[in-house]
Amino acid sequence: MKVRKIMVIGAGQMGAGIAQVCARAGYEIVLYDINPDNLKSGLNGIEKNLARQVEKKRLSTEDRVSIMAKIKGSPALHDAADVDMVIEAVVENMNVKRDIFSQLDELVQDHTILASNTSSLPITEIAAATDRPENVIGMHFMNPVPVMKLVEIIRGLATSDEVYKKVEEVAKAIGKVPVEVNDFPGFVSNRILMPMINEAIYTLYEGVATKEAIDEVIKLGMNHPMGPIELADFIGLDTCLFVMETLHEGFGDDKYRPCPLLRKYVKAGWLGRKTGRGFYLYS
Ligand code: NAD
Repeated sequence: MKVRKIMVIGAGQMGAGIAQVCARAGYEIVLYDINPDNLKSGLNGIEKNLARQVEKKRLSTEDRVSIMAKIKGSPALHDAADVDMVIEAVVENMNVKRDIFSQLDELVQDHTILASNTSSLPITEIAAATDRPENVIGMHFMNPVPVMKLVEIIRGLATSDEVYKKVEEVAKAIGKVPVEVNDFPGFVSNRILMPMINEAIYTLYEGVATKEAIDEVIKLGMNHPMGPIELADFIGLDTCLFVMETLHEGFGDDKYRPCPLLRKYVKAGWLGRKTGRGFYLYS
């Protein structure tokens, strides 16, 4: 069965972006968040983003209106009952994700694909919370979703070839480039990126250089568009910590131990751009 209607779960920075790009490609979207304020600000964010595209003449006003009309905000997970695919983008926490997937298992139709946008958590373990692990898959978008081309598609141990193919088709239909990856902690992207970010935070923690100097070295010396400290703020320091903990636990190797300074910032609630303060201040 062709994918026509998608529920996106979590209207934070990733979920809102995913809803936007899928609606733009013509899919009907139900955007659900457990927190009504976050749902509202996710929908407002999409509206603002599209308005900016109209200002830049990359989108017509009619298209902006028709994209917004395709996105319905929802206060209830039950609205997953008639969708063909779910893309989950809630907090990077295994218990929360497993709880959502086991509820979905009771709610959705037999053919419905259950995808997670997890940055690092094992798809096989999320799938084991359902009685349909063959329908469960990882669909890892990059941030910001409307801009970044890559989608890592992660096969769990039981993911069927048919489900893989359909998700690949959806990724292409929304203008992304899918790359197939197997199910290991952090997949490819975050197994390589996060230890670099964590090491940059250690470099700051040990007083090797200021955050500005660390970012400048990597931007100018390695030609990265953003420095690693700035990027950590952009991703969200809570997400960075969750990913490092997943790598540490998953591989049992101390080379992945999260920097204490990262933990301290997360404990303080300084989570980066999304809370107005991380390593840098945002107005
Ligand atoms: P975020 O904090 O911006 O948003 C998470 C949203 O999920 C919040 O709005 C929250 O209210 C909602 N939520 C929490 N529990 C929920 C539940 N039980 N049911 C419904 N909604 C719930 O986080 P984010 O940065 O958008 O990250 C979301 C997911 O995407 C994580 O798994 C993260 O690892 C992954 N991811 C993040 C990035 C990034 O750069 N931030 C990149 C790729 C993947």
